[in-house]
Amino acid sequence: MTIGILKEPAYETRISLLPEAAASLTKQNIIVQLEKNAGALAYAFNDAYQTKNIQAFERSEILKQADILLSINPLSEEDVQQLKPNAILVGVYQPLFNYDLMKQWAEKNITTFSLDMIPRTTRAQSMDVLSSQANIAGYKAVVEAANIYPRYFPMFITAAGSITPAKVLILGAGVAGLQAVATARRLGAVVEVFDTRPAVKEEVMSLGAKFIEVEGAADASKAGGYAVEQTEEYKQKQQQRIADSIAKADIVITTAQIPGKKAPILITDEMLNAMKPGSVIIDIASATGGNTLQTKNNETIQYNNVTIVGNSNLASTLPSDASKLYGKNVLNFLQLIITKEGNINLNFDDDIVAGCCITHNGKVVNERVKSLIG
Ligand code: NAD
Repeated sequence: MTIGILKEPAYETRISLLPEAAASLTKQNIIVQLEKNAGALAYAFNDAYQTKNIQAFERSEILKQADILLSINPLSEEDVQQLKPNAILVGVYQPLFNYDLMKQWAEKNITTFSLDMIPRTTRAQSMDVLSSQANIAGYKAVVEAANIYPRYFPMFITAAGSITPAKVLILGAGVAGLQAVATARRLGAVVEVFDTRPAVKEEVMSLGAKFIEVEGAADASKAGGYAVEQTEEYKQKQQQRIADSIAKADIVITTAQIPGKKAPILITDEMLNAMKPGSVIIDIASATGGNTLQTKNNETIQYNNVTIVGNSNLASTLPSDASKLYGKNVLNFLQLIITKEGNINLNFDDDIVAGCCITHNGKVVNERVKSLIG
């Protein structure tokens, strides 16, 4: 059995499997092939793979030969044309947005496992790419904000005068948001947090931040830990409460997302106009529309003396650790679909295997993706 590690598109710095992780597959009698220079931007060069008995090939050779192909981003149409029948793709393909692509892949008889669809269960934690990468994004959002912000984060009392600590507001306390809280606290900021899920209040408080409460949130207990859409009345109350905090904030990190939907607008232009000059917004939800009306994905803009950074791919700015953690997630997942002897064994009775399988046997098999295709 052959597993191919593909080079990512030009905008991506990460690689799906670093040499150490790839070496553990070769111990299972699996042939691992690397696309030439695929790891260069994560400082994992061809020779590092070669010392683990993994050779580098041209992309077209890997596409034709591999039984399982590892990538982070979706493959192009030309790539897919070259795959073996019944080839297996493992990556992060955002099928709730890319459902037409999934239909095409099903028609090509490809089996697709999209790791962003893995159930958020305790057993799946070691394979949860959304968590490992969001954790990096939360950390890096604060570091990026500190880099742009024209003042200090911590409080200082010096002979030349006193500095008050920066006020950081974090909207959305999922994995990224909670890591942002921890990082901002480590830098000495005063942190406030808002989320529609009251369940996160304790976690926020244990990290030394204040939780902003708005009563009347829609019940999200049946949404697998994810947020659900809110009523208009709730949204209005929430906006008023956020407006009060935003006018006092120096840094705002926005992470609010609803799976498969456009990100909610939490910051109106009126709120932006009330922000202090020099304040910074890092919008991690930019790829799904952003949490402000002004956010531009993959751009940094100035709006009324406020810097707004739209970046949902912050994990890519830490390519070595991001690839290390992503690769470990992939390796753990692969153990569910290959035997100890290194043969493919797709067990759809396993809720993780079934949960993230999007296409198989010529069909789209994931119910949510199917319903989007209509
Ligand atoms: P996410 O990226 O989907 O969303 C980020 C945060 O934004 C969430 O906390 C969400 O509640 C919040 N949000 C959505 N709409 C909002 C609004 N209008 N206003 C304010 N906040 C809003 O979240 P995530 O980081 O992927 O985490 C989703 C859930 O999965 C969490 O409950 C997390 O604890 C859980 N989780 C479980 C596991 C596991 O058990 N294996 C692993 C990771 C995450």
